[in-house]
Amino acid sequence: MSLAIEIVEVGPRDGLQNESAVLSAEDRVEFITRLEAAGVRRVEAVSFVNPKRVPQMAGAEEIMAALPTDLTRSRIGLALNLRGWERAVAAGCDEVNAVVSASEGFGVRNQGAPVAAQLKAMREIAENNAGLPMGPKLSLTISVAFGDPFDGEVPERAVVEIVRRAADAGYQEIALGDTIGAADPWTVRRRVEACREAAPHARLRMHFHDTRKTGLANAFAAVEAGVDVLDASCGGIGGCPFAPRATGNIATEDLVYMLERAGFSTGLDLDALIRTAEWLEGPLGKPVPSGLRRAGRFPSASA
Ligand code: ZN
Repeated sequence: MSLAIEIVEVGPRDGLQNESAVLSAEDRVEFITRLEAAGVRRVEAVSFVNPKRVPQMAGAEEIMAALPTDLTRSRIGLALNLRGWERAVAAGCDEVNAVVSASEGFGVRNQGAPVAAQLKAMREIAENNAGLPMGPKLSLTISVAFGDPFDGEVPERAVVEIVRRAADAGYQEIALGDTIGAADPWTVRRRVEACREAAPHARLRMHFHDTRKTGLANAFAAVEAGVDVLDASCGGIGGCPFAPRATGNIATEDLVYMLERAGFSTGLDLDALIRTAEWLEGPLGKPVPSGLRRAGRFPSASA
């Protein structure tokens, strides 16, 4: 068997956004370049948010301009509203990822807007994007889809309703984001099934943080439930500055190791990913949390 699983690399955006070190534009471009050399086809490269709120993400236009045109890759820009979408289009992003919170508490603190306003922005982005002859691809991430650090439990019906509305608005790929690492594998399976029922033609992507060490188990559950696209960050860096004590995404190299050892193909070069995680420790000034960076692959390349 060689089922393909697509991995969307989110380290340059979701990862770096929560690191206290603010990387230079050169280092961010080098990070993306190394990831693409390791086989990454879709990378969350930049975020079009207010640099006063998220200084780590300043200079999105500069980063996009520095990346050589490559029609085989997709550089994703995150946009929280129509203004962000306009900037992403102008900067030449191949894909724009919109975000809607599944719950008010996180929504207001993270995106500075209630959920109803976020849903309106989601529709506006889709409508405007549909008006472009060669517009970027659109995807949506539903944040705090398994738990909100301020409001607590997030009911499945809240997530399913957003999925339904997103599919109606024309989003063909919808991600459930476990922003604070609250999910368990069995809940993941039930939510995947419920969302698929609500939007049978949309592709479901999953976005797990490893805050409570359930990240890889959740990824397993998602793949078992038929999901074939997952977010991960090289080195396992990341979190969210607006989610207290959130930690990184599942590490790309740990996910690649788990999947490829089981016979799935990801198209990624594990050794190059581990080297990239090692390189990243320089600009970050600290070790990264991934297991493969610490323990190496098995069997080792020399064995
Ligand atoms: Zn995240």
